[in-house]
This record gives sequence, C-alpha cells and structure tokens, in this order.
Amino acid sequence: KAHLSETDPEVFGAIQKEFGRQQHEIELIASENIVSQAVLDAAGSVLTNKYAEGYPGKRYYGGCQYVDIAEQLAIDRAKKLFDCGFANVQPNSGSQANQGVFNALAKPGDTILGLSLAAGGHLTHGASVNQSGKWFKAVHYMVKPDTHLIDMDEVKKLAHEHKPRIIIAGGSAYPRKIDFAAFRAIADEVGAHFLVDMAHFAGLVAAGLIPSPFPHAHVVTTTTHKTLRGPRGGMILTNDEDIAKKVNSAIFPGIQGGPLMHVIAAKAVAFGEALRPDFKVYIKGVMDNAKALGEVLVQNGFALVSGGTDTHVVLVDLRPKKLTGNKAEKSLERAHITCNKNGIPFDPEKPMVTSGIRLGSPAGTTRGFGVAEFQEIGRLITEVLEGLAKNGEEGNAATEAAVKAKATALCERFPIYA
Ligand code: PLP
Repeated sequence: KAHLSETDPEVFGAIQKEFGRQQHEIELIASENIVSQAVLDAAGSVLTNKYAEGYPGKRYYGGCQYVDIAEQLAIDRAKKLFDCGFANVQPNSGSQANQGVFNALAKPGDTILGLSLAAGGHLTHGASVNQSGKWFKAVHYMVKPDTHLIDMDEVKKLAHEHKPRIIIAGGSAYPRKIDFAAFRAIADEVGAHFLVDMAHFAGLVAAGLIPSPFPHAHVVTTTTHKTLRGPRGGMILTNDEDIAKKVNSAIFPGIQGGPLMHVIAAKAVAFGEALRPDFKVYIKGVMDNAKALGEVLVQNGFALVSGGTDTHVVLVDLRPKKLTGNKAEKSLERAHITCNKNGIPFDPEKPMVTSGIRLGSPAGTTRGFGVAEFQEIGRLITEVLEGLAKNGEEGNAATEAAVKAKATALCERFPIYA
C-alpha cells in the first residue's frame, strides 16, 4: 500500500507543515490539546469505513458487531469517568451535543438562559448568529463588573422573569469554578432543566480536581478534545432515564446520521487514558501551570479577568498595556506563541478587535512543560507585548524574532510524538 506522501503529496505536505507548526510553536489556545499516539491510531483507523446508524445492539446496518464493541467501551468508560448512568458518545462536536439537548428538551420558540458570549459564554448557548439564538428566545446573564464572577442574582432574576425551559452554565472563556448547586436551585424554582456544558473543564472534572456538575445538572454536554484530551467530538451525559431516551432519539435520528465510529473508538481510548491515575497528575499540572502563567503576567503589569484562574484558562486584559487582542495575537503568533484574541467582560472594543487574549495550559502541559516553563512563557509573552506597545506592529520584528528563537528552543526540548 502506497503512503499518502506518494498518493497525494499536496495533502501530505499540508499535514507535515501542520505537524511542524505544532512541534515548533508554543500552543496556548485553551481549547486545544495534543492527543496520544493511541488516540491518533484509533481516529485514523478502518472504523471510518463503517456505517452504524443506531446504537450498540440496535443498528440499522449489518456488520456492526465490532464497532459495537468500540462504542460500548466508550459509553462504559465515560459513565465510569464521570460517575453517571448514561452517556451518548455520538455527537460529532460540542455544538451538536448542545443541539441534541435542545432538540430533546425544548421546542423552537422556547426560552433558554445562558451566559452571555460577551462574558465568556459559547455561541451555541443562544447567540443571535447561531441556530440556538435563531430558534429559541435566548436570554443571557452576565458576570459582575467588579469580580467578573457569574452574577447569580441576575441569573435568578432573569429565570423568574423569563421562565426558561433550559438554564445553561458553562462557557469558553470563564476561568472560575461555577456554583452548580445554586444554578440547580434556581432551575427548580422555575421548573427549568439545568444543562451544564463542561466542554472546557471536562478533564478537570474527570480528574476530580474541580467539582462535578453531577448531581446538580439534569444533563451535561462536553467536547472530548479540550482538557479531556481526546479526538475532536462531543458527548452527552445524564442520570435521568427519561432525558437519556430523549437524548438518544434527538441525536439519532434527530440531528445526525451515521456516527463517526473511528472517532468514537478514539473517544474510548481517550476515556481509558483519563481513567488512569497519571491523568490526575496531568490535570494537576494543567491547573498549576495556568496559575503560574497568570501570576507572571500580573507581576509584569497585565490584568487578569476575575483576578486569576481556578482552571486551565487565563483571560488576559491588555488594557493596562494599551494593547488590543487582535494585534497582540498576531504579534505573538509571529513569535511562535499561539493564542486567540478574546473579548473581556464589558469589552469596549469590537469582537474582531477585543481587549483581551485567552491563554490555556492543556497542550503545553501535555508536551511536558511545568511551572518553570510556563513562567518562562509568561516572560516571553511580556517581552513580545511590551515590544508591541513600545514600538508598534511595524517596529516589533526584532523582538518577535528574538522570542521566536527562544520559543522554538523551548519546544525542541519537549518534542511531541517523540
Ligand atoms: N461548548 C463550549 C463551552 C465550547 O467552548 C465549545 C467549543 O469551543 C463548544 C461547545 C463547541 O464545540 P465544537 O467546536 O466541537 O462544536
């Protein structure tokens, strides 16, 4: 059998270049990680050839006996990992996991209540540009202006005023723990279902290092590719049998057809890895490293949204340095430090500009960076951004080149897939 390098050198070339980028750049995108070779092997396997509409033991196609084994392993391991009674491992993405829950528990026109995108919420929690915002009446709560913590008084007020069908907690740029019990109490007061989207912090929950959404949440969604360190995909969990039945029909045949069996097998592998004791050590490192990175940035004059982090996410407010997120992201990228611009609560800048950058420790920690390396990364970020503030975009090339050399050297000390 011919190798991809011979059969399609163009695609192979793109993959090789992307591998080189991952190998030589400091990856700080908080939603990304570096999966194990075992996860890659499963995701790139012959299971991609198989149609398996339905669920294990109840398929609409023949020849499903082996993919059934893989999916059942994924389900059983997910249930064990999150100590719950039901898992649907078929959502192709986090967005489809959320769509699946909406499809199961709400009808178009119903009201949903979630964290505002402007305060770290996710598009799929009712943003006007997303289907969730077009099909549902979406109402959003904010964080408090002084603490940047979720304003639970506002959640309660809005819940009583709008009587949502679903109340959602979780987001993409919220660095603090969430009070699930307080959310559930409010949901019970107004007869709403309480959904926790733990996409970002699922790995921290799996490791038992932050509180689990269970038993408070009626239903939990997640992606599998962030802190959980699995393949790109989604999942839905619950302890409620009625919700479980509805979720299964909402995913298939509700919104998806044939599940991605190769990805489901890779999910099983990742969940197996997360069940092992060393995953807890990894997540402890993720949390310690995020804290260390944030501390160096504060010492160097940056502000952090909410003043710090309880998780893997550090949301940096660049205003003390008179910088914007878009320019900071680009300058850091030229220095081989990859992150994303991100709005901060009550951001005066437009979404394509922003006053912040979002940083995360999951990928760097996977390749072996510890506290010392993340402190060094904090210093490298400071060097680039202070250069940018002082010399402007055009004048920062020398600093970017100097930091790029240091960033590349750091990465070379911690190779991936070595
Ligand atoms: N939910 C949250 C909280 C997320 O952060 C994300 C992705 O960033 C998603 C859902 C959507 O996941 P996906 O990109 O797999 O659709």
